[in-house]
Amino acid sequence: MAQRQRLIVGNWKMHKTIPEARDFVERLAKLLHGQAKVGPGGASAGPPPDKMVTIVIAPPFTALSAVAAAIKSLPISLSAQDAYWEDHGAFTGEVSVPMLKDAGCRYVIVGHSERRRDCGETDVTVKKKVAAALRHGLRPILCVGETWEQRSNGQTERVLSGQLTEALTGVEKDRAADVVVAYEPIWAIGSGRPATAEQARDAHRHLRATATALWGQDAGGRLPILYGGSVTPDNIGEFLARGEVDGALVGGACLDPAQFAKILAIAQSNS
Ligand code: PEP
Repeated sequence: MAQRQRLIVGNWKMHKTIPEARDFVERLAKLLHGQAKVGPGGASAGPPPDKMVTIVIAPPFTALSAVAAAIKSLPISLSAQDAYWEDHGAFTGEVSVPMLKDAGCRYVIVGHSERRRDCGETDVTVKKKVAAALRHGLRPILCVGETWEQRSNGQTERVLSGQLTEALTGVEKDRAADVVVAYEPIWAIGSGRPATAEQARDAHRHLRATATALWGQDAGGRLPILYGGSVTPDNIGEFLARGEVDGALVGGACLDPAQFAKILAIAQSNS
């Protein structure tokens, strides 16, 4: 079985001013001190790099540069929450992938359900954003997930394979490990009602099978697939206990450094 990276991604959404963002990083750094087994660049006493948890935080655009400076000597990577697919031009209000790279990002969340719901994001625009991220060396964190209605109507698998195939068709299979997929059932996001470990496992298996159909066994096996939706320190262990779940995309529980550090510690102890 392919050895895949374990990632924990914190999506701040529209929270935190620049001073609040700096304060968060300072407090998280103190909490991580002693939790040496996180990467990249964890302490030398830690486990080999393939066993480390990769920590990613996704602040709002306004705080990206400040957070980039604050995490410089920490084992934390920076993500944006969205990007536009063109590199530059007359696109008022948009931010391009090269601009995010310039601000210190290594990842970018693409196709979050809140953007699909509120900002007119479609499979077509999501596909363009995935391609733009890869073109410039950023790792897209591609969000897919079904509504409760779709699940109730037995459409979960069809929705998931549709979203994944639309976004990834045309992406070369040698880029499989550069993409991150987050399975986020929409009904579980911010609801306090996470998927069960079995529901997550089934969806992850289906996504893996879809990636394998697209890229073949080897490349499909290298794609990291995260779970997102009401993840907390109380349930992260259960999700990660399954071989199918490579990490988590965390919303509400990532805003508090103590909660986020707890999730990271459990993710590490569990790898
Ligand atoms: C999210 O917004 O991606 C998310 C998973 O949020 P929450 O953890 O709050 O459900």
